[in-house]
Amino acid sequence: MELEFNAEELAFRDEIRAFIADNFKPETRRAQKLTPSFQSDPDVVVPWQKALHARGWVAPGWPKDAGGPGWNAAQRFIFEAECARVGTPAMSPMGVRMVGPLLIRYGSQEQKDFYLPRILSGEDLWCQGYSEPGSGSDLASLRTKAERKGDHYVVNGTKIWTTHAHFANRMFALVRTSDGARQQDGISFLLIDMKTPGITIRPIRTMGGDHEVNQVFFDDVHVPAANLVGEEGQGWTYGKYLLEFERGGGVVSPKLRQALRNICEVAESEVTDHAIAHPEIAMKISEISLDLDALEFAELRVLSALQSGQNPGAVSSSLKLRASEIHQAITRIGVEVIGQSALIEEPMRPLYALNHESLLPEAFLTLVPRHLNGRANTIFGGSSEIQREIIAKQVLGV
Ligand SMILES: Cc1cc2nc3c(=O)[nH]c(=O)nc-3n(C[C@H](O)[C@H](O)[C@H](O)COP(=O)(O)OP(=O)(O)OC[C@H]3O[C@@H](n4cnc5c(N)ncnc54)[C@H](O)[C@@H]3O)c2cc1C
Repeated sequence: MELEFNAEELAFRDEIRAFIADNFKPETRRAQKLTPSFQSDPDVVVPWQKALHARGWVAPGWPKDAGGPGWNAAQRFIFEAECARVGTPAMSPMGVRMVGPLLIRYGSQEQKDFYLPRILSGEDLWCQGYSEPGSGSDLASLRTKAERKGDHYVVNGTKIWTTHAHFANRMFALVRTSDGARQQDGISFLLIDMKTPGITIRPIRTMGGDHEVNQVFFDDVHVPAANLVGEEGQGWTYGKYLLEFERGGGVVSPKLRQALRNICEVAESEVTDHAIAHPEIAMKISEISLDLDALEFAELRVLSALQSGQNPGAVSSSLKLRASEIHQAITRIGVEVIGQSALIEEPMRPLYALNHESLLPEAFLTLVPRHLNGRANTIFGGSSEIQREIIAKQVLGV
């Protein structure tokens, strides 16, 4: 593998840097810095997405004819690394990284023509309706029912842990359309307009203090049959295809590396009494750096192996497992670095809208919420135990 960028790639990097300098506003930079969650609020991310959209850079992984920029693996990596270096907002993965590739592969022409441009422009914000109370890892047992009545499905049931359902105007959902002998065969994939009568959203506040996830209830919700993706009863196949993109369709290592750099900066400062000089902290940071090198090589290898728009396959589980564990190691060291200050809580949310002087210096504000929020990384998108099971069966062939 060639590890140095060539002249053409360096010119591409400069082009990205110039774009960022022109379009990444200081107020957005601060808001993103003070966002502890893995997803940014729409008021932080949408202006940035609109600027990217104007350049055709919203969906680096999509094929060119679907609206992707046609970048190769090195260009995708450079783009992500440059964005991570300055901390640009995190675009919702539900549209660009998840339902977008699914529609490109399995959607009807009408669905592609309608939804894909709206994902790119940021006009549509999506949420993911997979998990239900009692159906998380055992997703095939899901019970939210969609009964066909004429040219509609009537949906009843509930979804839980639905990230950003309170912002989204659309949900992609796995629903039960029949009770066959094999649970997986009765599942279908529906696109639901969140403004449809009969949908209720109940917020769930998580231990980091943020409102990110929700429970969503469906009471006789009428969804046009045209919103079915592919064939009825094939939703399990589509749902699993989408999960490969959720787990391994992006480039995460540059963001993690920047998160570690940010913590090193705090650890080097006087306000932490130069915590980095503590041998245990320095050793942990070195270990995380090595893990990051390995993740970066793995991501580059997968990116190079993929043609634009292809699915990552079971290796996505290895990437998800490692990235989530490294993320947690980074946020944990962040808490260790600030010592007893970690006991002081700033309850106001969002942190970027803080209108009083906090007891904590600004550089400390997100460290504990980010650590608590990050506990979910080894749960969502399929828990670490489930990823290990997939790796054992599908990668190692055990
Ligand atoms: C912050 C957050 C955001 C989320 N966002 C979304 C979202 O937007 N949309 C959505 O649909 N879902 C979302 N989820 C739900 C997430 O996908 C589920 O929480 C996850 O799949 C685990 O399911 P569960 O919570 O029901 O736990 P369970 O499946 O009950 O698992 C409990 C524990 O048992 C272990 N376990 C279960 N089965 C096995 C097994 N076969 N072998 C070994 N160990 C096992 C698990 O690893 C876990 O440790 C989110 C979750 C969180 C925490």
